[in-house]
Order: sequence, then C-alpha cells, then structure tokens
Amino acid sequence: MRVVIVGGGIGGMATALALADRGHEVRVLESEQTAGGKVGTLRLGPWQVETGPFAILQRASTEPWLRRLKLESSVVKADAAAKHRFIVKDRQLAAVPTSPPALLTSKALSWRAKLAILREPFLPRGKSEDETVAAFARRRLGLEIAENFVCPFVTGVFAGDYEQLSLRSAFPTLAQLEREHGSLLRGLYAQQKERQRRGELPPDLISFAGGMGDLTHALATELGDRLTVAAAVSSIAKNGNCFVVIANGARFEADRVVLALPAQAASLLLRSLDENMASAFSEIPAVDVAAISLGYSGAGSAVPSGFGFLVPRCEPFSMLGTLFVSGTFPQPSLPDALHLRVLVGGSKDPEALSLSDQALVGRAESELASILGRLPPRTFVHVQRWRGAIAQYTVGHHRRMELIEERGRGLQLYSTGASLRGVGVNDVLADATAIAAKFQ
Ligand SMILES: Cc1cc2nc3c(=O)[nH]c(=O)nc-3n(C[C@H](O)[C@H](O)[C@H](O)COP(=O)(O)OP(=O)(O)OC[C@H]3O[C@@H](n4cnc5c(N)ncnc54)[C@H](O)[C@@H]3O)c2cc1C
Repeated sequence: MRVVIVGGGIGGMATALALADRGHEVRVLESEQTAGGKVGTLRLGPWQVETGPFAILQRASTEPWLRRLKLESSVVKADAAAKHRFIVKDRQLAAVPTSPPALLTSKALSWRAKLAILREPFLPRGKSEDETVAAFARRRLGLEIAENFVCPFVTGVFAGDYEQLSLRSAFPTLAQLEREHGSLLRGLYAQQKERQRRGELPPDLISFAGGMGDLTHALATELGDRLTVAAAVSSIAKNGNCFVVIANGARFEADRVVLALPAQAASLLLRSLDENMASAFSEIPAVDVAAISLGYSGAGSAVPSGFGFLVPRCEPFSMLGTLFVSGTFPQPSLPDALHLRVLVGGSKDPEALSLSDQALVGRAESELASILGRLPPRTFVHVQRWRGAIAQYTVGHHRRMELIEERGRGLQLYSTGASLRGVGVNDVLADATAIAAKFQ
C-alpha cells in the first residue's frame, strides 16, 4: 500500500519505518527543516542539551526498536545515583521514599499519611468509569500523599493538573492495578513478585552516546529519501479510495494516511474531511513548557547525587522541577561541571512562556538559590520553548479516542503520536508498532 505519514516526529518516523518493514511504500511529510519533532540534541560548545526528552526507560517493548535502529551499542545507562529522587517540602529537598518500608520510615510523611498507606489495601474499589488522578489519589492514599507525592509525580510526566487528568487514560497501569487487585499496594506487590519470579530486573533509565537525538537521527537515516522535510501539509482530501495530500503545493497520492501530529494540528487538517473527528482532536489540550539549561563549571558537588526534584503546588515556587543532568548522565568532556535543567510552565504556570528568556532564567536561578543554596556564577545557559509541549489526557479522553478510532477506521485514516495513547517516547514507539500491525 502507498501510505503518507503526516508529521516527522519520532511517532511519524517510527510508524513509517514499521510500515516499510512490512512491505508498504511510505512517504513521511514533515513541516520543519529537520525531522525529529520534540526529540533532538544540541551541541553548544562542550554542553550537550536535549531539546525535549531527556531519558527513557529501557522497556521490553523498546528493545526491538533499539535493535532495528542499531542503537544497542550507543545506549548509555543513567548513573546508579539517579534512583535518588527528591521533592521540595517546606522549601527544602526531601528524599522520595523508594519502597513501601521506606515510605513508613520516611521523614517526608506524617504519621497520618503513614496510616493512610497501611489502610490502603483494605479500601473498596472505586466505582467511577473515569475519575481524575487527584480523586483517585485522595480516595486511596489520603490528602497529604496526594498533594505532596502524586501531584508532583503527575507534574513530572504531564506538566499537568492532576485535578483534570483522567486516571484511566493518563495512568492506565494504576487504574488496572486497582481493578485487578482491589488495591494499589497489593497490585504493586504482586507485580514485583511476578517480576522476581520471571527473573526480570526493573528497566534501566537510558539515553544514548550522542543524546536522545540519536534515536530520531537513526530513524531519519533508515528512512532516507522516504522522508521529505520542509513539507507542511495544508490539506488532505479523499477521492474515492484514494487520498490526496497537499504539502507546499506538491501533491501526494496514497491508499492510507497516518496522522502523527499534535492534536491541534491534526484537528486543523481534518476539518474538511471529518468534522466530528476534527472536534474530538480539538478537545485534546496541551500545555506549554520551557526547559532552561544552566551550566556551572567546577560545581559538580553543589547538589545531592540523584535524578532531580519536583515541586508540589503548595510550595512557593513557580518551577515544575529540576533535573540534575550532570548527576544522571555525567559528560566526560565536562568533569566536575554542574548541569541543571529547570522545567517551567505547564498547567501550574500557563503564562510562563510569555516571559523573556532573561526573566525566565532570572526567576529560575533565584528559586534554585532558595532551594539548593547559592550556586557559583553560571557559565552556560540555553532556553528551549515548546508551545503545546505535552498533551493532556483529561477526563473523557477515552471517549474522544473511541470516536477518533471509529471515524478513522471508516476513512482508512490512522492517528498516532503523543496526543493519543501515551505521552512518553516509549509509548509513542509502542503505538507505532501497533498501528503498523493494523495494516493488512
Ligand atoms: C520538554 C519536554 C520534555 C520531555 N521529556 C520526556 C522524557 O524525558 N521522556 C519521554 O519519554 N518523553 C518526554 N517528552 C515527550 C516526548 O517528547 C514525546 O513523547 C515525543 O516527542 C512525541 O513525538 P510525536 O512524534 O508524537 O510528536 P512531535 O515530536 O510533536 O512531532 C510531530 C511532528 O509533526 C510536525 N508537523 C506539525 N504540523 C505539521 C503539518 N501540517 N505538516 C507536516 N508536519 C507537521 C511537527 O513539526 C513535528 O515534527 C518530553 C516532551 C517535552 C516537550
């Protein structure tokens, strides 16, 4: 089949490659000058900066992609210290407990919160068809754990508001644990036992020798001239069984089309093809995020070893959190340097991107000084802005997905990418595999 894939982010390119491997004739159309979408790595002097994703978990479903892209030998595992994570509590860093026993002895939790944990396995299952992550967290774990741990955890993945996000769509595994085991903790325990029985280790957190951009670079290389950049698709029409896709005045014919676009871009293209599908896409919001990279030479030990910290909403800081880049993936070219990545914006601070770079950096550094103490003079800075950075799977997302899938089947038009069935790179890669398998 001739398939046109609209959008050359990691989702579009991975879907195209999976389809090509099944013998289909593919053409990826990407509007920007370079493919990759939000995934990319910049080299600015000795500093390596990720434009979007910073790391992924090496899950079983990701392995075939690493093999296919010949990236196994360039995998870089995160430093062992990255298992230490922090939250801000009372304006200071507090270690996040990493196991149920550690939860019960943690100083970051009151005795009331510890009682809530002990009570959780005995609570009844929820009855709601689709509830918010906040409602679920309060119901099962109580207010304190919801506000201080679950809320920042949600921020870490979606930069979103846990009062709006749907548990079943945004965190399907948690919903499944409750459904199947009647309790989150019993479910997690059963999952851990099963992993031990199978001799499986928890997945490693990884990046690549040249950064996350290695992934999209390898995909673009594999696709070769089947990828066209600087080709913004302006319309898709159907003529009988044949699609006609127009990009920068050029016309492409296809038997099938795959949209691998942010939801709002997909909605615009679908207006003339299917109004209902276009509306469903338009109801998938996304938040803006900026990533501020800050470098300090010779200050490697100025922060505790670990992955970084998240900031609960009740703390008086605007940032979402900060990654300790140099502690997670130490760069041999920058021994003893401190590299931090401050994330701002999201639903917590929706106006953040209206600030100038200078204002964003000034505010980030003043908040870092309150939380971490005084840092030495900065030697490097870079600000990366993303409008519509991360899709928000709000309550009702599964209904919108049902409609998008049903209408798509009728049209022979498929949709993939981070706006739909998982916002992380792993989810997007797994969805690419699943979409390609649907083509007969
Ligand atoms: C700041 C940030 C940090 C993140 N951190 C992580 C992380 O650590 N780990 C993780 O797993 N995930 C992370 N993510 C999520 C990850 O970036 C996404 O899962 C992934 O990049 C989504 O890929 P995609 O192909 O679906 O979308 P995109 O990357 O948005 O690609 C869509 C493509 O479509 C193109 N396009 C748009 N309109 C048109 C048109 N009309 N015609 C042709 N092309 C068009 C765009 O130019 C773009 O290239 C992060 C995201 C952000 C923003």
